[in-house]
Amino acid sequence: RVEVHGVRKSYAGVEVLHGVDLVVEPGTVTVILGPSGSGKSTLLRSINHLEKVDRGFVALDGELVGYRRKGNNLHELKEKELLRQRTRFGFVFQSFNLFPHLTALANVVEAPVSAQGRPRAEVEAEARALLARVGLGGREKAYPRQLSGGQQQRVAIARALAMKPAVLLFDEPTSALDPELVGEVLAVIEKLAEDGTTMIVVTHEIGFARRAADRVVFMDDGRIVESGPPEQVLDDPQHERTKAFLARVL
Ligand code: ATP
Ligand code: MG
Repeated sequence: RVEVHGVRKSYAGVEVLHGVDLVVEPGTVTVILGPSGSGKSTLLRSINHLEKVDRGFVALDGELVGYRRKGNNLHELKEKELLRQRTRFGFVFQSFNLFPHLTALANVVEAPVSAQGRPRAEVEAEARALLARVGLGGREKAYPRQLSGGQQQRVAIARALAMKPAVLLFDEPTSALDPELVGEVLAVIEKLAEDGTTMIVVTHEIGFARRAADRVVFMDDGRIVESGPPEQVLDDPQHERTKAFLARVL
């Protein structure tokens, strides 16, 4: 369970998140929509403490993210503890960020072995199964440059899953792809959704939101303007800003 409570964030004195509250229940998919600059990426990065929030807090399964409580005070987690906590979040970026000098299989195997210290043979077997799950069985030995953008993004998804995260965060996972490759990546994410993977997905793909989301959250200007089931937010939006945004993207 992810809890975001009263989160505020400023850059150079300019507040870009004005107090965001969000709860994501295990096994659910939350899709975040909103115009450019509305704070979607900042919120996602605040959730796994890639950004330090100025006010409020984030908790994962009741545990504060980035901090430890000591009496009445909060202490920042040390680098090592922070890295361990961050492995509970899988993050998939717009630009796949694979290691170019490693094969697909080695990309998936890398973090569980080096960061979690798990036995290589066991991780490799899991990694092969994960690559098969994202439709890349047989491409284990390919290097990123030998794969299409859609295939690279699917490797990135397998790599995130290899850490067995409690929640997967996606920041516009298909917006760097050629249009004909978007579908194969969305199909993989939809399959994960059906399998009960907890996910927060920032995307402009309204069809995907309709099919996969349990909840759609619309953000504008650093605030959550409205949220609810997809049929409510997408088909019967209550706020003018949501209506205007949907009119533009649909
Ligand atoms: P997009 O759809 O274009 O990705 P977004 O909704 O993800 O937009 P953010 O990237 O979260 O928006 O940005 C929210 C606001 O914060 C913007 O005004 C942006 O310019 C600002 N911002 C984001 N990151 C930084 C940073 N590192 N330094 C300064 N300002 C930033
Ligand atoms: Mg963004």
